[in-house]
Amino acid sequence: MNAFQDAEAAFSANYHEARAAFLEAASAAGAQRQHHACPARGPGGEALHTDTAWLGDPGAPKVLVVLSGTHGVEGFCGSGFQVHWLRAGLHRQLPADTAVLLVHALNPYGFAWLRRVNEDNVDLNRNYLDWRQPPPDNPGYRDIADAVLPARLDGPVAAEAEAVLARYRQQVGELAFYRALASGQFIDPQGMFYGGSGPTWSNRTLHAVMAELLGRATDVTCIDMHTGLGPYGHGDLISDHEPGTDAAQRVRRFWGDGVSESRRGQTLPLVQDGPTHFGVTRALPHARVTFGTLEFGTYERDLGRAALRADHWLHRHGDPLGPEAAPIKQALRRQFYPDTLDWKEAVLFRAHQLVRMAIAGMQGASAQRGQPVRD
Ligand SMILES: [Zn+2]
Repeated sequence: MNAFQDAEAAFSANYHEARAAFLEAASAAGAQRQHHACPARGPGGEALHTDTAWLGDPGAPKVLVVLSGTHGVEGFCGSGFQVHWLRAGLHRQLPADTAVLLVHALNPYGFAWLRRVNEDNVDLNRNYLDWRQPPPDNPGYRDIADAVLPARLDGPVAAEAEAVLARYRQQVGELAFYRALASGQFIDPQGMFYGGSGPTWSNRTLHAVMAELLGRATDVTCIDMHTGLGPYGHGDLISDHEPGTDAAQRVRRFWGDGVSESRRGQTLPLVQDGPTHFGVTRALPHARVTFGTLEFGTYERDLGRAALRADHWLHRHGDPLGPEAAPIKQALRRQFYPDTLDWKEAVLFRAHQLVRMAIAGMQGASAQRGQPVRD
């Protein structure tokens, strides 16, 4: 017997199954649904959408927002949880003043094509800058750009690139290496972890959803679901709130001592203002915003880098629909979606726990220690 009933059934095999499961579960739960058509197409030329489901009073002052698929291929995880939450009927237990907004497949192109980036090769979690300012510099990426993404994945070219990266890593240390590689860059539109040159379609879509549905909310908690960082199956709730602020204290009160704070150096800080955290907090100045990035660990980080590099190589130098695509896509999918029962159970347990804590926290309860208090 599974720890969670129907755990397997909530997770889908591809974007289209995930979308159908989400829309059906949302409809069965009586959600208000909206559909946003993406300008990009799937591998078979098919249409792609970001969909939303609103559960609860349309005028509720308190809203919990759960985002899936910011990083395309990571959407298997967030979608599975969203579907499971809907099917479990947990919306029926919401306090009267609280609504839940589920945003499904924020980057549907990446989900459908099994990519982390979007249709513009942009890492959406580096794209939420205030674009009136010039984007930040990442001098480290400049030093290693050619080695990060060599023209070939094997042979002497690839070996030399790996040697360059190994020397750089040795020279600057682990933290500076990953900061250079992965914190975001704005100089190479075809490179890895590219933050873009303006707000992407997914960024603009999230802003449109917030403007339309969260304009009246005064208390918004947002969980943005990701995978690929940390130990296998472990769900790390990461806060980008400044230590010492009310928001940082709220994160602790809602979610307890298991939180990692990027501003305390407990996890790698990304480019200033790039992550979803900053897009959401900046867009809702009228509301009290509590934001957590939920990262589920999968396999080791260097495997992830290799899988991402191969995928970038495929879309830059190869044929994403050709015969060399299958093993590359398979490795990437596995890296960001292990597709095993134990991993799915761990995801469901932790995500349900954090959602339950967030809803209780907005009711004023200290969710960690005591029993959640309801009105
Ligand atoms: Zn991610």
